[in-house]
Amino acid sequence: MALPTPVNGQITDAVTQATEAPETVEVDTTMVRCDGGGDLGHPMVYLNMGEKTWVECPYCDRKFSLKGG
Ligand SMILES: [Zn+2]
Repeated sequence: MALPTPVNGQITDAVTQATEAPETVEVDTTMVRCDGGGDLGHPMVYLNMGEKTWVECPYCDRKFSLKGG
């Protein structure tokens, strides 16, 4: 039984969730709108998930996730 080759002298840390993880917003529909929510503020855009269950706002990187799968 072959074991995975250890990475030489390096410890791979779990992904450090340090800086400003973009907010995830749960929504009911695949069509959402985002205006940055005040602080960040950007022109109102409409985002369509299409066949996916999530979409990211290209302006503020906020992620919209379809509720309840
Ligand atoms: Zn946005």
